[in-house]
Amino acid sequence: MVLKTIPQKKRSRKKKNMKFDIITIFPEIFEFYFNCSILKKAKEKKLIRTKIHNLRDFTDDSRKTVDDKPFGGGRGMVMKVDPIYKCVQFLKSKFIKPKSKIILFTPRGKKFNQKIAYQFSKMEQLIFICGRYEGVDERVAKHIADIELSIGDYVLMGGELPALIVMEAVARLIPGVIGKSEFLKQRITKEKNFIEYPQYTRPPKFYPEEKFWRVNPKIWKVPKILLSGDHKKIEAWREKHSKII
Ligand code: SAM
Repeated sequence: MVLKTIPQKKRSRKKKNMKFDIITIFPEIFEFYFNCSILKKAKEKKLIRTKIHNLRDFTDDSRKTVDDKPFGGGRGMVMKVDPIYKCVQFLKSKFIKPKSKIILFTPRGKKFNQKIAYQFSKMEQLIFICGRYEGVDERVAKHIADIELSIGDYVLMGGELPALIVMEAVARLIPGVIGKSEFLKQRITKEKNFIEYPQYTRPPKFYPEEKFWRVNPKIWKVPKILLSGDHKKIEAWREKHSKII
């Protein structure tokens, strides 16, 4: 009797990649940035995927209206709930991943930080809703978004820059996106809400031209410890000057 050998299933070595879906009325802002930064390389290496959704494609009228006057009066226009609903519904029906989060950018949201970036880097998909005008109909925050996020206590003109900021902070935490040594350094860091110590490079002494600068001291020096070659002391100095947030 000839025993047939059953071919063993090849273990998939597919790298995990993160998908970013961006909902915006200004797709061109992202196209430019994606083509000239570390994100471009990450995309080429298939570590991240990006898909920009033009909100105007989810409108019904010929003018592709995405905004309307606020109920109760007041200045400016408000982004309508229905095009955002249709766009997210379209994503949910076809392209949603098990570990995904829908993020609405608003200055009233939870303040973004490194800890949140780490949490997001464990996801498979982030869907960003970029507001414009005087903001977004509150029903988007209440019923569509998983989280409202702010990048700081100031008001910008739109959610596109916040989306790029969050994306970059998250993407660099994905294995392979930045250099290996840099990534390992992050992995061995005990605290995930850690921001690195100050860095210096050559020259060890820099002599500024006095008439242009408030020079005190007159030579801009690198801290002696960093030039000492004493690794223990250097580590201690770095720890002391790191920031835990
Ligand atoms: N009327 C709103 C207010 O005073 O809170 C400001 C709306 S702002 C002009 C338009 C959009 O920009 C917001 O809907 C939001 O998507 C985005 N945005 C502005 N500042 C932001 C911030 N600090 N963090 C996150 N998103 C912001």
